[in-house]
Amino acid sequence: MTDPSAKAEQVVIIGSGPAGWTAAIYAARAQLKPVCYVGVPKQDPGPILPGGQLMLTTDVENYPGFPGGVSGPEMMGLIQQQAERFGTRIVGEDIVSCDFSARPFTLQTSGGAEVKANAVIIATGATANWLNQENEQRLARSGGGVSACAVCDGALPMFRDQPLGVIGGGDTAMEEAVYLTKFASTVYVIHRRDELRASKIMADRFLSQPNASVLWNKVVVDVLGDEKITGVELEDTVTGERSTLDLAGLFVAIGHTPTSRFLEGSGVKLDGNGYIDLASRSSATNIAGVFAAGDVADHAYRQAVTAAGMGCQAALDAERWLADEGLS
Ligand code: NAP
Repeated sequence: MTDPSAKAEQVVIIGSGPAGWTAAIYAARAQLKPVCYVGVPKQDPGPILPGGQLMLTTDVENYPGFPGGVSGPEMMGLIQQQAERFGTRIVGEDIVSCDFSARPFTLQTSGGAEVKANAVIIATGATANWLNQENEQRLARSGGGVSACAVCDGALPMFRDQPLGVIGGGDTAMEEAVYLTKFASTVYVIHRRDELRASKIMADRFLSQPNASVLWNKVVVDVLGDEKITGVELEDTVTGERSTLDLAGLFVAIGHTPTSRFLEGSGVKLDGNGYIDLASRSSATNIAGVFAAGDVADHAYRQAVTAAGMGCQAALDAERWLADEGLS
C-alpha cells in the first residue's frame, strides 16, 4: 500500500483547538515537522473559529497554570505560539475530505490542494448546538451571560447567587445544571417536553438540589437584554402561552455535534452520534496511521485540559507508529 516515491508530510494535524495544538507541540519537538490545518472561520450556524470552542469562551479558570484565569482566545494564542516555536507549519484552510485507502494518505483542502501524509491526527473538535436566535448569539459572542458551557463559564462572579437558566433535558443539561446549583440562587431547567431525556441518576442528582427547578413544556423564543442578559421570553409548548423569566445567565445544553462530517466515506469508524471511535487507552482509530484527539473523539469529558492530554497521546502514538513503519 505504501508508495515510497510520493512526497508526503510526516504528520498532518487537522484542527487547532487544545488537542490539535498540543499534538503539534509534541510532533514538532519530535522533529516530525507537522503541518496544522487550522480551519477557516465560518458561521455554521453559530460562529466556528480556528482555535475552536475556546475562542467563544470568556474566562478560563480551570486550566492548570493560569491561577488568575485566562481568556479562551488568549490561551489559544499562547498554545499556538508554543506550537509555532518548535516549527509547526500552519495552513489556514479546512480539510474537506480524506482518502485513507492507500498510503501515503491523501487529503483535500478547502483551497483545492491535495496533501499527502504518512500519519494524520484528527482534532476537529465539536460544536455546541445553539438555538440560533439573534439575541442568543449576540450575547454569547459578547460575554453577555449566554454560554454553551457551564463548566467553562458558570463560576464567573456575574452568575453568583443569581437565577440561571439551562435549556435542554438531556444528560448534558443535567450535568450543567447540577454544576450551576453551586453558584446560582435558583437553576431553572427549561425543557420543551414534560419528560427528561436524561438518565435517571443524572436527573435525580439535579432534582435533589434545594435550588433546582424545572420548567416543563417550555421553549425559549427570545433572549432579553442589551449588554447582559436580563431574562428570556418563554412559550408553553402545550398552551402557547407566553411568559417572561428573569435570568442573569443562560446555558444552552441541547447537545453537541462532533466535526466529523468531512470523514464520511473515509472509512474512519464513527459511533452513532458521529464521534470517532478510538481503541481503548489509545488515540488510534480503526485505520492504522490515523489518530484522533479531543472533542471529536470524546463526548464524556469535553474539557480543554483533557483535549490537550489527548493531543499529546495522539502525537506520541503517531511518532511510535511512524517509527514502527520505518517512516521516520
Ligand atoms: P441529548 O441527549 O441529545 O439531549 C439534548 C436535549 O436537548 C434533549 O433533551 C432535547 O430535547 C433538547 N433539545 C435539542 N434540541 C433542542 C432545541 N432546539 N430546543 C430545545 N431543546 C432542545 O444530548 P446531550 O445531553 O448533550 O447528551 C449527548 C450524549 O452524551 C448522550 O448519549 C448522553 O447520555 C451523553 N452524556 C453523558 C454524560 C454522562 O454520563 N456524564 C454527560 C453528558 C452527556 P428532547 O428531549 O425533547 O429531544
